[in-house]
Amino acid sequence: MIKKILIANRGEIALRVIKTCKAKGIKTVTLYAADDATLPHAGAGDENIALGRGPLSETYLNQDKIIQIAKETGAEAIHPGYGFLSENTEFCKKVSDAGLIFIGPSTEAIELMGDKKESKVKMEALGIPLVPGYHGENQEPDFLFEEAKKIGFPVLIKATAGGGGKGMRIVNSESEFTDALNASKREALNAFSNDKVLLEKYIINPRHIEVQLVSDGQGNHFHFFERECSIQRRYQKVIEETPSPALNDELRASVCDTAVKIAKGINYIGAGTIEYILAPNNEFYFLEMNTRLQVEHPVTEMVTGVDLVDLQIQAAQGLAFKFKQEDINQTGHSIECRIYAEDPDNEFLPTTGRIQKIETNPETDYRLDCGYRDGNHISTNYDPMLAKLITYDTDRYSAIEKMQVSLNNVLFGGTKTNRDYLKRVLDNEKFIEGNIHTHLIEQDKEELKKKKWEQNIEAHFVAVSLISATKPVQNLWDKKFKQTNKVISIDGDEISVVVNSLNRNGILFSLEGKKYRYETLLWEKGHIVLESKGEIISSHLFMNQNGSFQVFVNDFEAIVDVASKARRASSSQQLSEGSLQSPMPGKVFKVLKNVGDKVEKGESVIIVEAMKMEHTIKATTEGLIKDIFFKEGDQVQGGVLLCEIE
Ligand code: ADP
Ligand code: ADP
Ligand code: MG
Repeated sequence: MIKKILIANRGEIALRVIKTCKAKGIKTVTLYAADDATLPHAGAGDENIALGRGPLSETYLNQDKIIQIAKETGAEAIHPGYGFLSENTEFCKKVSDAGLIFIGPSTEAIELMGDKKESKVKMEALGIPLVPGYHGENQEPDFLFEEAKKIGFPVLIKATAGGGGKGMRIVNSESEFTDALNASKREALNAFSNDKVLLEKYIINPRHIEVQLVSDGQGNHFHFFERECSIQRRYQKVIEETPSPALNDELRASVCDTAVKIAKGINYIGAGTIEYILAPNNEFYFLEMNTRLQVEHPVTEMVTGVDLVDLQIQAAQGLAFKFKQEDINQTGHSIECRIYAEDPDNEFLPTTGRIQKIETNPETDYRLDCGYRDGNHISTNYDPMLAKLITYDTDRYSAIEKMQVSLNNVLFGGTKTNRDYLKRVLDNEKFIEGNIHTHLIEQDKEELKKKKWEQNIEAHFVAVSLISATKPVQNLWDKKFKQTNKVISIDGDEISVVVNSLNRNGILFSLEGKKYRYETLLWEKGHIVLESKGEIISSHLFMNQNGSFQVFVNDFEAIVDVASKARRASSSQQLSEGSLQSPMPGKVFKVLKNVGDKVEKGESVIIVEAMKMEHTIKATTEGLIKDIFFKEGDQVQGGVLLCEIE
């Protein structure tokens, strides 16, 4: 029996694995890169080993170092979590060669499923339905073009080695094909050092449905029902749930049985997920298999009551499970929201910074799988997912309602997250009806945008922000307050306020001629409770680096700046038209132009990479490149000037 496991991952998934190990009396070894030293996982194991500084290849992806640490600490097995080394055949092989147990499937299974082309060939042999398309050897552009025409547009080009949405291109018509093919190949070569592609019919408005599998160590294969993962942005999941509102009993049985057939057909061992695409006519097609534990596994645990990590550990030791398929039931409904450090109102760009405080409410009924604690910095080296919030109830509507309450009770102070956006999705009528598909976020873009506040909500923001900035009353003279005009910025919108009275006890002001009065019930640093016309207004405030406040008022959230207009203007320096800035902190991945080159407006100039994503900086005007301030590999701050065009 395994007595000690090394966890080759970070954040919430490392903690998740530790939780099961503790329950089973297994000792754990965690690893942490230098920039993760204060994260919870870095101290959560029985032994916690520093990986030092450097690029990922020196830390969480340093295969030899990780295996050596496992040996030195006497761990018998390695759990890879998800991402990182979890689907790396080279690592998997090295682990077994070192006489250690890899908690995951066989090297062969990872290899087969890691290649979208090879896996399709195998699925075809097993009689599994595939999206109509071409996945053969011939990579001649002319030949592929003919195949695309046969499939019929729109067509999707995918990298055979692909993952994380990289290398994927939609082609709507014949004339777009060549450009799309070249772009896909370029991206694939960059990301996976392999430019092979395959073609698929592009299904309009499909759902992403997947089935959780676990096969034991004795050739028995089980499914744990489906997950609906259609709410995506950038081909990446944001909200997942189970059961899927799209499946009736017959269709459910069909997708689940097909998944078990695949597991049997490849002699699978351990946890895996079969991803399908479900067309609006209820035809479903195999998309790919993920040969690891998935981010969204908790919703399955909630409705089936199993511990998937426990099953992974049993399977890896060759044990047989003690249950039968009939013993696994799907009861109730569970939803997961991924809380990302990102700005959905600015093209979902990742955000960074310091998490000042994580506010939670232990009285609310949720599961929070979170990899961070108060004071942690969000590094650009990793994925921007901060936490997963999971709710469970008897039915879908109750689980959604619970999620809406929970999202109001889990605040990441000091960092911009997608929390407010998640609430907007949960309020979306189509989402509530269960009438969803993978393009909902894109199609309902306008509707999901942040709404302008009603005036009384704006007034709440004004009141708590101004009261929080007051000093305690020292003597009588402080009470003499002269009427002042203030311009306050709320989420970038400037509003004019006439303040008649203001101190820690309350505020009196007018906004567009309407009078507002608030009295303070509680004044604590960062937490203010006010009363106005019988309504209780509870707020949390966090000061940002630039002096503005991140304010949560009742169920609303905004960035509020109470500084004078002049100071605001001077702090955001004006840049000329041809100045290209980095939208976020990251690393200069590619410099596509040289000084002196002529560029057209909209042409790509520099690619900045951060948090697993590439951001292409395009020319804002036509002209000549006057200066480029960074070279490939340089680390850059958000907002810095990268290049000037004149
Ligand atoms: P899933 O299908 O379960 O959503 P993905 O295939 O999208 O998973 O990606 C795997 C996960 O690996 C990501 O969601 C991410 O959280 C995690 N990860 C974190 N850091 C990295 C990294 N540097 N490289 C690869 N994966 C990472
Ligand atoms: P990755 O390895 O990057 O996760 P997948 O093949 O799993 O790539 O596809 C990711 C997402 O892209 C799916 O969840 C789905 O939203 C979309 N997608 C993939 N194939 C198709 C298709 N043929 N038609 C429409 N959408 C697709
Ligand atoms: Mg996928």
